[in-house]
Amino acid sequence: MIIAVKRGTDAAELRDFTAFLENRGVRVHRSEGTSQTVLGLVGDTTGIDEEGLKAHHLVEKVIRVQEPYKRANRLFHPEDTRIDGTGPDGRDWHIGAGNLGIIAGPCSVEGQDQILETALAVQKAGARFLRGGAFKPRTSPYSFQGMGCKGLDLLVEAKKAAGLPLVTELMDIRQLELFDQVDIIQVGARNMQNFALLKELGRCRKPVLLKRGYACTITELLMAAEYLMAGGNDQIILCERGIRSFDNYTRNILDLSAVPALKRQSHLPVIVDPSHATGLAWMVPAMAKAAVAAGADGLIVEVHRDPERALCDGEQSITHKGFSSLMESLKKYAAIEGKCL
Ligand code: PEP
Ligand code: MN
Repeated sequence: MIIAVKRGTDAAELRDFTAFLENRGVRVHRSEGTSQTVLGLVGDTTGIDEEGLKAHHLVEKVIRVQEPYKRANRLFHPEDTRIDGTGPDGRDWHIGAGNLGIIAGPCSVEGQDQILETALAVQKAGARFLRGGAFKPRTSPYSFQGMGCKGLDLLVEAKKAAGLPLVTELMDIRQLELFDQVDIIQVGARNMQNFALLKELGRCRKPVLLKRGYACTITELLMAAEYLMAGGNDQIILCERGIRSFDNYTRNILDLSAVPALKRQSHLPVIVDPSHATGLAWMVPAMAKAAVAAGADGLIVEVHRDPERALCDGEQSITHKGFSSLMESLKKYAAIEGKCL
């Protein structure tokens, strides 16, 4: 971080200001020009509040040279991070560092036979993880809100029957005690900047799938990951799921450039959700393949046995058959990218 000091600052003020900065754990390198003094801060500047500094009466300008995130930054961790676990079938699973994690299942669990049937179908087609929401963040309070605790029990039953690790969304930290059998906790787009939730999940030792808020920048997503990591949880998977823009042809705009951008800035695995990004089942396979070609470490795809009758997100859900043919083509794409499926 570089600070240009206001003209007319005297030596005593500069000394006090330097001490103020050094008290925040950085070394201060001073360069005196003919008309301007510039201070270079050396060391960990994550504890320095840039906005607060700009408000200081001696400060003319602040320039941040390094990104405000540290633990998520590739600069300090050049190798790709791999998230690992063991599934209910005893098999180890991996996401990142050359491993493509395919997560599939319905938007919501709707009943025992529905989730069981889809869990077995996606497993047969080659998915490595089961998704399904029990607690649903719906725009309208009158829409189906998910089956709650009962839904979670059904998901756990289905994960065991299919032998697949379970990914499901947590909306409220009070639900955490119910998530014992959940393998990856999803933080949805609407909660990406729920900092109280992120702080609590930072203390937990389970992998977190962190979805990008639909009006959040790449840096904001990485700062949300930083919240989790600052709490000690380094098992974070980032997810691009579409952002808001002016065109409403698709439900959101899939920002595929976020994949190489996030992978350049961070060592964390990045997956793509082509279902919420497009909102259109027929577009999901094309975007899923494009995501793998763009370097994604995995996909989260909504699959329903009868999309027309789905209680949530039917329009963007592909059928069991559709998922099976998508998996067939993904095998080829994974091979081209040199990734293990
Ligand atoms: C979901 O995965 O079902 C979901 C609600 O996703 P998002 O938070 O991306 O909208
Ligand atoms: Mn959904």
